[in-house]
Amino acid sequence: MTYYRNGDWIYDVYPCPSCHGTGRDASGYGDCRACHGLGYAGTNVTCRVCNTWLLPNQPNTGCPSCHGTGIANYHSPTPPSIINGPFPRAGRR
Ligand SMILES: [Zn+2]
Ligand SMILES: [Zn+2]
Repeated sequence: MTYYRNGDWIYDVYPCPSCHGTGRDASGYGDCRACHGLGYAGTNVTCRVCNTWLLPNQPNTGCPSCHGTGIANYHSPTPPSIINGPFPRAGRR
């Protein structure tokens, strides 16, 4: 699982389900309305538990939700891979 960090927020990013990552609408000429032509969609998965009532931007390893990863409800035994920077742009050039 790969996540993207954008400022203080962490996103789970995946190809847009409406256009399957192409960024085009059904005709192939216009921009996909769901993603505005970007080709991806993202869900904000930033842990709100330790971001709200513990130190801001300092994921806490004792946090019951993210276990120090900063990602809400993270339960995998392996650390997440978090990429800093803009989301990937799929499909278009
Ligand atoms: Zn789309
Ligand atoms: Zn947390």
